Amino acid sequence: MLGRLLSLSGLSESRCSICGIEFLDEDQDYICPDCLGDIRPFRPFEHTRLEWISSYRVFGRYEGALAEVIKLVKFKSAKPLAKALGEIVKEHMEEYIKETQPDMISWVPLHPFRLWNRGFDHNREILKGVGVGAEDILIRVRYSRPLASLGRKERAKRVRGAFRIKKEFIDVIGGKRILVFDDVLTTGATASSVAEELLSLGAEEIIFYFLAREE
Ligand SMILES: [Zn+2]
Repeated sequence: MLGRLLSLSGLSESRCSICGIEFLDEDQDYICPDCLGDIRPFRPFEHTRLEWISSYRVFGRYEGALAEVIKLVKFKSAKPLAKALGEIVKEHMEEYIKETQPDMISWVPLHPFRLWNRGFDHNREILKGVGVGAEDILIRVRYSRPLASLGRKERAKRVRGAFRIKKEFIDVIGGKRILVFDDVLTTGATASSVAEELLSLGAEEIIFYFLAREE
């Protein structure tokens, strides 16, 4: 009955990919509001130093609902869920921004080929949900297969030199403290590679904000 009413009204029932209940949502049909509400910041984290990065903060562990949502956004192209995720981390990220007062905010971009495949850059979309102004500074110049199966050294090798700064920003980043956003912190190789590139062109300090940390 419900299903029929819904199809008449143009809405559809969805099954939550975490708890399995059926729910209604006009924007996204992957995760029910209850499960989304379970995503909360985890702290404190014990800190590992990341090369070239002067400070960073992580929202939560890469597990449970948070990991599930990130996977849906990345591998199922769930664009509205990316924005919802941004809204969830908003307060936590804003607190870090207030503490660190960056001059510019940016994100780790997808390779253009991936962007073309997926239709949107999830990190950029998540930042839209956070609602902070961010600059499109970086280009990923090297296409690499997912790094998940690689060890620490191999990862570092794959991402070295993988990023460039867009021409129009080369003269802008000098002396700036730049906050870069990325989804998952694993070994930190990607973040360090981004930071090294920005510092080599005169940026003063690079800090990072990650959604989740894989341990
Ligand atoms: Zn659920």
